Amino acid sequence: MSKFIFVTGGVSSSLGKGLTASSLGRLLKQRGLRVTMCKLDPYINVDPGTMNPGEHGEVFVTDDGGETDLDLGHYERFIDESLNRNSNTTTGSIYSSVIAKERRGDYLGKTVQVIPHVTDEIKERVRRLDSEDLDIVIVEIGGTVGDIEIVPFVEAIRQFRSDVGRDNVCYVHLTLVPYLAPSGEQKTKPTQHSVTELRSRGIQPDVIVCRSDQPISDGLKRKISLLCDVPAQAVISAVDAPSIYEIPIAMYEEGLDKVVLDILRIDIDDHPIELNQWESLVDRVERLSETVRIGIIGKYVNLPDAYLSIVEALRHAGFEHQAAIEFVWVDAELVPSEYGAEFLAKLDGIVIPGGFGERGIEGMIAAAKIAREEDIPLLGICLGMQVMVVETGRSLAGLEGANSTEFDRLTSHPVIDLMADQADVSDLGGTMRLGAYPAMLSSGSVVASLYDAEVVSERHRHRYEFNSRYRSKLEEAGLVCSGSSPDGRLVEFIERPDHAYFVGTQAHPEFKSRPDRPHPLFQGLLAGAMRRKAGREPRLLDLDAVH
Ligand code: GLN
Repeated sequence: MSKFIFVTGGVSSSLGKGLTASSLGRLLKQRGLRVTMCKLDPYINVDPGTMNPGEHGEVFVTDDGGETDLDLGHYERFIDESLNRNSNTTTGSIYSSVIAKERRGDYLGKTVQVIPHVTDEIKERVRRLDSEDLDIVIVEIGGTVGDIEIVPFVEAIRQFRSDVGRDNVCYVHLTLVPYLAPSGEQKTKPTQHSVTELRSRGIQPDVIVCRSDQPISDGLKRKISLLCDVPAQAVISAVDAPSIYEIPIAMYEEGLDKVVLDILRIDIDDHPIELNQWESLVDRVERLSETVRIGIIGKYVNLPDAYLSIVEALRHAGFEHQAAIEFVWVDAELVPSEYGAEFLAKLDGIVIPGGFGERGIEGMIAAAKIAREEDIPLLGICLGMQVMVVETGRSLAGLEGANSTEFDRLTSHPVIDLMADQADVSDLGGTMRLGAYPAMLSSGSVVASLYDAEVVSERHRHRYEFNSRYRSKLEEAGLVCSGSSPDGRLVEFIERPDHAYFVGTQAHPEFKSRPDRPHPLFQGLLAGAMRRKAGREPRLLDLDAVH
């Protein structure tokens, strides 16, 4: 049986529970342990698929088509293991199966209650992850201790320890230690209150991780240790890090993995740590000598978390090229009125990301046109690829009014459309192409040389497709369909060989990028952006010389 680590949070949301859990996962993996992770989310949506990314952040898609919380992206990027739909559970999904069981009569006439029926279902979801091939399951509980919705989850993980045995469970609690400038002090009271709240639900934390903007002194650690009843070495200082990829090393230096393994009675001497690979990554992250400006033209630009995996994938590609990314967030609705050709031409590269609904579409189409005409490196992702196709149709293939039927059902040129077998869209949830699909790349294409492969697999999350009826017309206009589904029916990749970098994909490559294994398509964009920047700089110098 695996051992289980439960990570809860107190005091405030957004303390970085997901990153702490992921960093711990990475350290344990570097000790040769086999690790998986999961997130229990107390909200009532059955999954985050229907949630507005502008409010909740991106929906992360797993290989098996699960639409999950964005923290799973951190998990995959840190522990470098593919997760699945079972790696994320919400109150909504728990209740829907409890209610389905009740309707089927599975509870044999009993009154169905939060304890034991809901808590049993939660425990069953966690236990489902256990397997012969795993040593450790890390379970992050979303939300903050003290929230109304979190109570059944805390109760379930409390019971879990008696179910599986003391030494098989470790409770890690993350809190905030604020610094009060007027008194020049770090305060432990919020941590004390948060631990009291957790204890009132029957859980005594084994480890307390304290987020703060300055290191927690040994004296303060002793104070927290005394007041919260954990050994001083189990009080871990988690200081704000310049890059999230530095957190595992910081947690290692604080001894987080060692304390957790002690609690779980795993002999640390049997599992020496191997950190060279991660340290060399951090070394690269700390030595970025250049900056490239990448514009993201989207509709949720007020909440960069809506594009979290794209942001990270761009950073990963930057690590490879020693370049930090300066993100320029461009509201698609303001292109070209506020952000026209002159503005976009100052960027080194552009990403048009995925999205749903009509808002901002014309701006994205305008941006694709500017990028094509100004030779600005452009990567179009899912919806981004679709607008590149629409733009080519309108500007170069003589298809006036070309559009996706998502935005204009009656367009005279539906270059992006539902496939015949998807024509009924009354059940929007049921018609998406979700999860990993293979694609065949044309040899000699830009994408084939970037991937260095002929068959690739990428994750999808969309309803509309490139309309093959227009394929030859668009190809005559210079658009190359460089990758398609194995049966040849669906276009998966497009490009323009005559351009600095003009690549679109119907998939979401950002989900598979890893900090030490950047995704080829983002690498291609970065390489193009670096070339553009290098080409621009001497010109600026010349101008200086003239003045
Ligand atoms: N709205 C488009 C579709 O459903 C694109 C979706 C996306 O970008 N993920 O096909």
